[in-house]
Amino acid sequence: MNAAVRIDPETGLKVFNTRAAKASEKIAGKGYSVVTDQKLTELPEMPAGATFNAEEQAKYLAFKEARRGAADYMAMEGEFKKYLDDVYSEPPIPREALDDECEILVVGAGFGGLLLWQKLSQAGFTDVRFCEKGGDVGGTWYWNRYPGIACDVESYSYLPLLDETGYVPSMKFASGFEILEHCQRMAQKFGFYDHCLFHTTVEATTWDEASGRWIVETDRGDKMRARFVVMANGILTAPKLARIPGMEKFKGESFHTSRWNYNIDLSGKRVGIIGTGATAVQAIPELAKVVGQLYVFQRTPSSIDVRDQRETTDEERETWAKEPGWARARRARFARISEVRAAVLANDDYLAGKIQDFKERKKHDRELSREELMQKQLDSSFRLMEQIRARVDAIVKDPKTAAALKPYYPYGCKRPTFHDEYLPTFNLPHVHLVDTAPRGVSEINERGVVHEGVEYPLDVLIYATGFQWMGTSTFNRIRGRNGRTLTEKWETEGTRTFLGLHTRGFPNLFIVTGPQGGGGSFNFTDVIYAHADYLVWVLQTMRERGARIVDVRKEPEDKYAEHCRVVDLATAPLRDCISYYNGEGKAAPGSLAYYGGRQWDKYRMEAQSSLAPYVFGGDPN
Ligand SMILES: Cc1cc2nc3c(=O)[nH]c(=O)nc-3n(C[C@H](O)[C@H](O)[C@H](O)COP(=O)(O)OP(=O)(O)OC[C@H]3O[C@@H](n4cnc5c(N)ncnc54)[C@H](O)[C@@H]3O)c2cc1C
Repeated sequence: MNAAVRIDPETGLKVFNTRAAKASEKIAGKGYSVVTDQKLTELPEMPAGATFNAEEQAKYLAFKEARRGAADYMAMEGEFKKYLDDVYSEPPIPREALDDECEILVVGAGFGGLLLWQKLSQAGFTDVRFCEKGGDVGGTWYWNRYPGIACDVESYSYLPLLDETGYVPSMKFASGFEILEHCQRMAQKFGFYDHCLFHTTVEATTWDEASGRWIVETDRGDKMRARFVVMANGILTAPKLARIPGMEKFKGESFHTSRWNYNIDLSGKRVGIIGTGATAVQAIPELAKVVGQLYVFQRTPSSIDVRDQRETTDEERETWAKEPGWARARRARFARISEVRAAVLANDDYLAGKIQDFKERKKHDRELSREELMQKQLDSSFRLMEQIRARVDAIVKDPKTAAALKPYYPYGCKRPTFHDEYLPTFNLPHVHLVDTAPRGVSEINERGVVHEGVEYPLDVLIYATGFQWMGTSTFNRIRGRNGRTLTEKWETEGTRTFLGLHTRGFPNLFIVTGPQGGGGSFNFTDVIYAHADYLVWVLQTMRERGARIVDVRKEPEDKYAEHCRVVDLATAPLRDCISYYNGEGKAAPGSLAYYGGRQWDKYRMEAQSSLAPYVFGGDPN
């Protein structure tokens, strides 16, 4: 067997063999099924002419305000740390701690890390090292393996490097298990495994001015020096728990959805699931097929749009086999859709390039003011939400349950979800919706969940309570110039980046898909591609100029941060609810996701042509 760390005699670089084996063959599953009952795959008619009038606005406002401050999340620390254990892999491969240097160190082996490696290595950057907390590649798709998991952006546009690997996803919305396999395919094809230290968590990243290097320390005792550090550590990586009194008392089995415990046999059991966000919506129909009794504890309902899952057709396979670059072209078309619902419906004829546009564009008699345009958008969001609410009534038989499942906020304000089996699940006699609106579950005890004086005894309790958004959990461990952490900088100055990728005072550090950089696009892969291409450009530019250090100037950073604030505020009415996108209603405008759309490209192109935002420096020694 190969050593965990060895030297490649040709390049003199270290080569790693740290990928952990899968913990158990029980870890397997599928995503969305193809549903044949047409009634379940259609939304009811759109209520023509309905507007988001004062009465409806008041209803949305009351729905929002009742929940203000109810979200009380906590990190998994102390006795809850066990929920973070890697249940998917065999124990870490033993290896020596590293005390050496590489040119580029990347944190994370999800889509971001994998794509970066493919692009960097193609551009001739080979002294690249990856640190990944998990035992294998995949990131999101490594950690999330709950039953029913699938992507919500169509897989032909979402999965990276389809052209380069020759792979065609089996379904329009591939299961998470298939996506994980694709990640492994990408890693194998491009030699990623040789470069990655798995089961290695970066704990501190500190700039050393004297040497012009970052010092990267890990939980494996490594102390590595790197000229460049790339944070590709994801947007939804650190799981969180809702803080509920008595959680520590529960005597049954419990886990978070991002560490699904396949060693627990759920068949016939009394199972509770807390949370009804995007994960729960996918998992609940599958759970209901197995468990004895299912209790769904809901504080805020998700919008359940149609999924209309289908298999990839033979015709598509044949066409794409003859069409080099088909996936790239499709992703580019997908990126042109700026409206949430049009994007998620993913019109096949348009995406396949058979028709020129994805919908008929409305022509107005005169140019509309900004306010009028906003009202039009709010009205159409309202009509769509009316359809979504009508769908609940059309499918869910018990009127009280149906009423509780109806969301009152603009479409896309919370992560939109899609399912054709979720709503009918609530008609099953062993599935119980426990409406805990608006404040959430009040208590957990030894036996189960208690809400409003009623005890729900459980064998297993599953936390579908989501993730910290935008990697905010790691920024306190990055220490830049003058010993200041990223968190300290952003707490005192407000979130400040240039393009989301650079932040002044943190030279040679790049943040992929972080605050102000991504998140406003429906297809994260698009953002990851844009960031990876940009990063390769920066590194090549530096190589050409003989520069060793890059930082950004204050003015362009301030201007860009202001731009993020302005576009966030301008589009805020479309996202007027309490959600993780806006830090549960507490984040400063423009400090998290980026809502500027293609304006990001404008800023990028200007910077690339003038080079004005950058301060390039030489090697200090
Ligand atoms: C259930 C689910 C479904 C989703 N579906 C979609 C979808 O349909 N479409 C879409 O566009 N997006 C979707 N997303 C968002 C998804 O996260 C992104 O699309 C994409 O996979 C992110 O890739 P990434 O490489 O940037 O981050 P990740 O996939 O999160 O990978 C980051 C990696 O960094 C590692 N890491 C973090 N901190 C450290 C550290 N300190 N040291 C070492 N390693 C570290 C993590 O272990 C992780 O493996 C979904 C997210 C979830 C959770």
